Order: sequence, then C-alpha cells, then structure tokens
Amino acid sequence: MSRTWNFAAGPAAMPEEVLRQAQAELLEWRDVRASVMEISHRGKAFMALAAGIEADLRALAGIPDHYKVLFLQGGATLQFPLLAMNLAAPAQRADYVLSGHWSDKAAREAAPYVDVRIAADARDSGYTTLPPHAQWQLDPGSAYVHYTPNETIHGLEFPDVPEVGAVPLVADFSSSILSAPIDISRYGMVYAGAQKNIGPSGLTLLIVREDLLARATRPMATIFRYADHAAQGSMLNTPNTFGWYLAGLTFRWIARHGGLAAMAARNRRKADTLYAAIDASGGFYRNPVAAAARSRMNVPFFLVDAALDGRFLAESEQAGLLALKGHRALGGMRASLYNAMPQEGVDALVAFMSDFQRRHG
Ligand SMILES: *Cc1c(COP(=O)(O)O)cnc(C)c1O
Repeated sequence: MSRTWNFAAGPAAMPEEVLRQAQAELLEWRDVRASVMEISHRGKAFMALAAGIEADLRALAGIPDHYKVLFLQGGATLQFPLLAMNLAAPAQRADYVLSGHWSDKAAREAAPYVDVRIAADARDSGYTTLPPHAQWQLDPGSAYVHYTPNETIHGLEFPDVPEVGAVPLVADFSSSILSAPIDISRYGMVYAGAQKNIGPSGLTLLIVREDLLARATRPMATIFRYADHAAQGSMLNTPNTFGWYLAGLTFRWIARHGGLAAMAARNRRKADTLYAAIDASGGFYRNPVAAAARSRMNVPFFLVDAALDGRFLAESEQAGLLALKGHRALGGMRASLYNAMPQEGVDALVAFMSDFQRRHG
C-alpha cells in the first residue's frame, strides 16, 4: 500500500509511533497479563498509569500545582453547559467572544445556565477576521470570559492570549491544545476534546484553577460537578481508560520529539507551506481568512470553480491525500494539520495541488 496522509479534522490522524506502540502491547499490557482495556481503573496498575500520564502532561505543558487536571467524557460539547454550571451562579453574567462556529455554539449551549453576554462578534466578516480586541465589551463583574483560541471550521486562530483583566479566561482548546507552548497561568480553565491533537474521541481534557472549583453552588448531579471529578481523580465513574492510555502515549511522543516548542516550529512551517501554496496559485485556490487570523491547525480553502471540487476530492484521495472535504457549513476543502501530520504530508499535498492546477487551471 502506498503512503497516505490523513487531513481529517477530527477524529484526526494520530502519530504512527503511538499507534504502533498501542498495537504492539494491545493484547498484553506491561505485566498485567491482559489488555490495558481489560483491567480495572481502580486497580494499582491503571492508577499508576493515570498518575504518570498526569505527571507527563504537567511537565509537558508546565501546568502549575494550583491547577487540577481532569480526564473526562462527553467531548468539548458537554463542557459548554457544564462550565457555565460550574463557574457561574445561575443569573450571573458571562462574556463570550464569538469568532466562528464553535464559540457561537459554546455561547448558545451555555445560555440556559448563565446570563450569556456577547462581548464581541466577528460574524459580520463571515468569520474571516478576529473581533478586534480593543472593541471587546468586557464586564469586570462577569463570572468568566469564554473564547475559542482556534476555530476548527472557519480556520481562524488567535495569535496570542487575550488580556481580560481579573476575570477568569476560559478557553476551548479542542483543536490547538499542545500544538505550541501554553501559559496555563493566563487561564482560569482550558478544555479540549481529545480527538484532534491528543488521541481518540471520547476523552476530554480539562485543566482548571483550583479556587474556581468552589464556585459550583447550584444543585446538580455529582457527575456534572468538576470539584467531585477532581476529588475522585477523574474516576467518579468508569473513565475512558483506553483513550486515557492513548493520550498518555501521545504526551510521551510529543516529549520525545522535542516538546511543545518543537511542535510549534513544525506546525508553523507546515501551515506556512500550505498558505504559501494557496496564495501563490494566482486565485486558483483561495483561503478567505485575514492573514493575521489564519489558523495553523485547520486550513479551509476553495477552488476557483466549485464544479472542480468533486474531481479534486477524487483525485486527491487517489493520490493518498485523505479527508480533504471541507465542513458542510462552508463547502470547499479543509486540510487539518495537527501535531501528528508531518511536513512530508503537507509537501505531498502542495505538490498535488500544483499538479491539479496545471491539469485543470
Ligand atoms: C471539535 C470541536 C468541538 C466539539 O468537540 P466534541 O468532542 O465533538 O464535543 C468543540 N470545540 C472545538 C473548537 C472543536 O474543534
């Protein structure tokens, strides 16, 4: 079989080394004489694994001691309401910055639980620019400020951490977590579904400042309450043990390959390669996002004639370039370039794009 490159937006490609290690130890993990999938989460071996994974992540991302790390389920989507329930009182206001599909959804899903205020909205640009920071209407009395550092569908990314004063900043990092160094101390809470940059779907990473756990005073079931998850080491009920294990392998893979600074350099170069190819195509390919807002992780692009889309997709797949179809909300194409995508894959994509243009341009 010839080499394939998977540009899926999520669930997305995982590092081949991680998959090979998981394959090698799938039937018998370490000395437990069973698969890591088949052992109790409360047994010694898994407890030790979980502790080691948290320690590895803390070292990798420089997570301060006064932050809790949780490994949950339900995806980022479940956190949209839960973070409101846990970080705000019922009628309290919370500021939302809208920069694309996901931040909009986060605000709508939080609305039944908190007084959602739209502090900024870049909708009028068709989500091709970020809302200018100077125009954000932030309220110092808000419970938190929510934003989405990387918009997976529209392909926008904030180039740095917005300054929001003393109100805790809450960030949906689903599609850019661990793609570059992160200063956790700038955030009240960071959360991410695993299936883009960490591992398989079904696992959600949450990093939350400890003092914020005391904010959840409204009545709610234990399973909704972050403080209870934290007190129980993310083992309130049966966790996604296999996903947790795979996330651990990915953290080690990142560390082995130079850590977050090395990921950032690789990711910068990959994105630069693809945007340069798009911009040099004389309009045959087009990415509509303002240069300063372009995502390093998700690159939507459109062909000059949408009638060529079907042919582009069929031929790219033939060439081993998988899952380039754009999100149904936007159409066109999208290439996701998470940590697991090597430069070689992007080089293969731009070579194909150039060849396709030569034949059809
Ligand atoms: C993929 C994604 C989500 C949704 O994640 P689920 O795990 O499917 O709930 C939310 N936010 C962002 C930024 C995403 O990229």
